[in-house]
Amino acid sequence: MSGANGSTWRNWAGNVTARPTREVSPASAAELAEAVRRAAEQGLTVKAVGTGHSFTATAATDGVLIRPDLLTGIREIDRAAMTVTVEAGTPLKRLNAVLAREGLSLTNMGDIMEQTVAGATSTGTHGTGRDSASIAAQITALELVTADGSLLTCSEKGTEEERAVFAAARIGLGALGIVTAITFAVEPVFLLTAREEPMAFDQVTADFEELYTENEHFEFYWFPHTGNCNTKRNNRSAGPAAPPGKVRGWIDDEFMSNGLFQVVCSLGRAVPATIPAVAKVSSRALSARTYTDIPYKVFTSPRRVRFVEMEYALPREAVVGALREVKALVERSPLRVSFPVEVRTAPADDIALSTASGRETAYIAVHMYRGTPYQAYFTAVERIMTAHAGRPHWGKIHTRDAAYFAEVYPRFTEFTALRDRLDPDRRFANAYLRRVLGD
Ligand SMILES: Cc1cc2nc3c(=O)[nH]c(=O)nc-3n(C[C@H](O)[C@H](O)[C@H](O)COP(=O)(O)OP(=O)(O)OC[C@H]3O[C@@H](n4cnc5c(N)ncnc54)[C@H](O)[C@@H]3O)c2cc1C
Repeated sequence: MSGANGSTWRNWAGNVTARPTREVSPASAAELAEAVRRAAEQGLTVKAVGTGHSFTATAATDGVLIRPDLLTGIREIDRAAMTVTVEAGTPLKRLNAVLAREGLSLTNMGDIMEQTVAGATSTGTHGTGRDSASIAAQITALELVTADGSLLTCSEKGTEEERAVFAAARIGLGALGIVTAITFAVEPVFLLTAREEPMAFDQVTADFEELYTENEHFEFYWFPHTGNCNTKRNNRSAGPAAPPGKVRGWIDDEFMSNGLFQVVCSLGRAVPATIPAVAKVSSRALSARTYTDIPYKVFTSPRRVRFVEMEYALPREAVVGALREVKALVERSPLRVSFPVEVRTAPADDIALSTASGRETAYIAVHMYRGTPYQAYFTAVERIMTAHAGRPHWGKIHTRDAAYFAEVYPRFTEFTALRDRLDPDRRFANAYLRRVLGD
């Protein structure tokens, strides 16, 4: 195990910093358990981090910071059970690449793959889906080190207590223990055909239910200050594979979505008054395209322009109304927003603190370019979302607390009761967990 005095830790967006007492990089579950026991002897709290892609202070600690770097790799691929077991610190991109080489794939995922498997699942990272849910919902078994330094494994097939842990710890916010390995359900690798197409705001919102119903994975972006959207439909296909051409792929994914977008955002930050006019042009810049590829190449793309984000999960039937309210808000306010607003969906799942727990869900995500004041925009949008009983993404900016969550999560006390049993001394606490779960 390597260890060092903590230096300043910073998240990807640069809006959260922390100064841990000590940093540790365990290379096994046993070393991790030892680090937890040692921290307990010294009365220090413990927090594992992934790649710091959360916008909230969920991973911040002034105690012992557990780094994921040495806890990586594939433990086992079980072709009979169709599962893969990976070390908790494994980056999603490595998991995706190994699975593809083995002719396998996850069913659904978010739009980047930089995060670690434990970091991504702990906050409920999701993509968009009609039938398939978040990455955590694809977990079939979990291994974690609990506050007393013991190793606990859980799945749907275990004892009553193990099933209770499994129901909560798949999206555990780092509050129940430190995850050391995760087993995911996998399937034979398949092809997805992506159809990207500009569409008017009025049409997408009028046809939303139909677009959602007719596609396995539907999402769209609305460009603030315009009536324009881009839609993306991903559906399984028999092939053949037809990846975007190298030039077209580079133009869309690198030049337009990263290089040029960076310039547009910098201009907007320097001279906000230019944003609406630029948005009218840039929202029309991406034209329709269709391509077919393996799942992770269709679901994910590089995101190099730094931003901060807030995302709320709403009952699906509320999403169109809420989005219209966001549009009206932007139109009547002095707000200048250069980042598109993203809408995705998820089926109801059975994880206690999943944003889609027990309800058919649609998400609205708002972003601001890094370094631009975002509070006024996010506060106004959050007011709309909470009026619809919205549940914020655990890794994205929000101001909600435990009292609020007790109202919007029917299984909230199931989670906190489990936390009381597994971590009575709050070894895994930090300021964020005190706010969202209570002390
Ligand atoms: C560019 C970008 C794109 C994104 N796209 C999406 C998206 O498409 N969909 C979506 O839902 N979200 C998205 N997110 C949010 C991101 O997926 C989540 O915030 C995710 O939690 C980050 O994973 P991470 O590995 O960086 O973990 P961190 O942010 O470092 O940590 C997240 C949480 O996990 C806990 N944790 C980490 N490792 C462990 C462990 N071993 N055991 C227990 N707890 C642990 C931490 O303590 C913390 O509470 C995006 C974020 C960015 C910056």
